[in-house]
Amino acid sequence: MPVEKIALITGANKGIGYEVARQLGARGTIVLVGARDDVRGKHAADSLAARGITAVSLRIDVRDATTVSDAATEIERRYGRLDVLVNNAGIAGGFTGPPSEATADDLREVYETNVFGVVSVTNAMLPLLRRSEAGRVVNMSSHVGSLALNADPASPFARLNMIAYQSSKTALNALTIAYAKELRGTPIKVNAANPGVVATDINHHQGQRTPAEGAVIAVRLALLDATGPSGACLSEDGIVPW
Ligand code: NAP
Repeated sequence: MPVEKIALITGANKGIGYEVARQLGARGTIVLVGARDDVRGKHAADSLAARGITAVSLRIDVRDATTVSDAATEIERRYGRLDVLVNNAGIAGGFTGPPSEATADDLREVYETNVFGVVSVTNAMLPLLRRSEAGRVVNMSSHVGSLALNADPASPFARLNMIAYQSSKTALNALTIAYAKELRGTPIKVNAANPGVVATDINHHQGQRTPAEGAVIAVRLALLDATGPSGACLSEDGIVPW
């Protein structure tokens, strides 16, 4: 019998993260439902369990170093390794004005979750991912973080100018490449997933895609075989330019 994979998804209590957990769970993966709020996390894990998925709620606030290291300790105690980390937790931030009116704090607020949180969670989980036969890290990025699309006036994504959120996803893309470079020559692959424009709380449900559709590329990258890419930025339709 094949050994079940163990996957941690941050921000898995709702939206795309919940769907990533559901789809990974449906493929036989044990899912650790990362949530910053215990009640919301348990509710999500219970709802996954009701669908026949092995789901365990794990408190993890990506901005809180103690919860991050406690989560790593708990995963080590229970399983001794981690096969998949999906860095999904993200916020848009409250600032929506033009870049000239943004403060450093407006950016810092978003970066704490979308960028620094990813570094802190990834570094805490890497020792466990190194114990996997095929560790996979998936960073939930966005087309709106693509420099190439932002610089192309013909791109629909160029219309948006949310400096904090968009640059945080650009930074996340940079992190993806940085970790992929370090981990080249190991079994661990690190990629950026672009879900498309998905109707969730983060965008007040202004999106054509469903969370289930948005989750597909992350799930694919989470389950890549040894021939798959590392250091790539992908959507369901293929490569997204950096
Ligand atoms: P969502 O429904 O608002 O979900 C965001 C998730 O992140 C929630 O579970 C939220 O938890 C969690 N979260 C926020 N801050 C956290 C923290 N400090 N620690 C742990 N968890 C935290 O939005 P979504 O659309 O599913 O977003 C998921 C990811 O996809 C984000 O990284 C987002 O940037 C990315 N994305 C979304 C779209 C889109 O169109 N929706 C497009 C491209 C990329 P709470 O419930 O506790 O707030």
